[in-house]
Amino acid sequence: MASETRKLMMGMKLPGGAKVQCVTVEVPRPGPGQVLLKMKAASLCGSDLKYIYYEHTDKTGGARYDDVIAGHEPSGQVVAVGEGVLDFCEGDRVLVYHIQGCGYCDECRKGYFINCQNPERRAYGWQRDGALAEYMVADAVTCIHLPDFLTYEDGAMVSCGFGTAWQGLMRAGVSGADRVLVMGLGPVGQATLILAKALGAQTVGVDISGERMAMAREKCGADAVFPGDEDCVQRIMDFTGGTGVEVAIDCSGSAAGRHRCLEAARMWGRVVFLGEQGTVTFEPSPLLLHKNLTLYGSWVTSVANMERLVEFLARKRIHPNAIITHRFALKDTDKAYAIFATGKTGKVCVNMEME
Ligand SMILES: [Zn+2]
Ligand SMILES: [Zn+2]
Repeated sequence: MASETRKLMMGMKLPGGAKVQCVTVEVPRPGPGQVLLKMKAASLCGSDLKYIYYEHTDKTGGARYDDVIAGHEPSGQVVAVGEGVLDFCEGDRVLVYHIQGCGYCDECRKGYFINCQNPERRAYGWQRDGALAEYMVADAVTCIHLPDFLTYEDGAMVSCGFGTAWQGLMRAGVSGADRVLVMGLGPVGQATLILAKALGAQTVGVDISGERMAMAREKCGADAVFPGDEDCVQRIMDFTGGTGVEVAIDCSGSAAGRHRCLEAARMWGRVVFLGEQGTVTFEPSPLLLHKNLTLYGSWVTSVANMERLVEFLARKRIHPNAIITHRFALKDTDKAYAIFATGKTGKVCVNMEME
């Protein structure tokens, strides 16, 4: 371990202005309760683009430190273990739940580190060094063992996007009795389609991008895909025999997408808002009250629910890396962000095993 920690490594920072800055820093040392990971995969996230890549504009997640290594979707192998770590050892393959909380508040005790309100809360790649480097220190409480079936790329997909999608489906209690509309087919929407399908639901996807509509059909097994235009609610009504869907999940974050979810949900249906940002205005009486809808807001997931998702994926033989459309070596992280920023890709992943 001593020789490991004296080494230098490559890491990537996001200083703003759509730039990626390559830095050389010392390989970090794991403290008590922490592990050192040799990074294997780190995927890029829409929230990085929205809040860090262009400008540091976040108003939701507390202070961000400009000077951290970016990347909050980590997956890697344990190469050194700090004092007091019992459940991980050298050689273990893990993914990392991307936030560490204070550990003692009500939300942290439930495993929802995302909801921790205390200043000790740190998200990897936002307030503490993250995944886009050769090595990363992680708190063992945020690490989840990867089953043999899942690859490191799969792990990176789960650590944020698939976890977020899974939580939305759990909140709405989706089962094989449901028809699930997924509004917005970016990476989280694609994950939602795949998982809803695996839970037994019939699935309908909607997006304005032809590329993303094709991915939903070909890679996510959507039963129907419609363009996100003025006729889309009518098409969903026709598809469901006039009733509307039991569950509508907005992953678009757009006012039109959210409104259409409320319109397309059937009487007593459930609607989940997963997509970030934006606004929506709607008439509560016809769209919510008179339809007896339940509307859920959902943000990320808990460590325990993410662990259950990992089990589910292995049992169902699902590889989340199916939605990766572009892969880059760590040194090409700038190219990865540039293509991801076009909004026409599926998931973009930095794979540290590529040269
Ligand atoms: Zn993310
Ligand atoms: Zn807390």
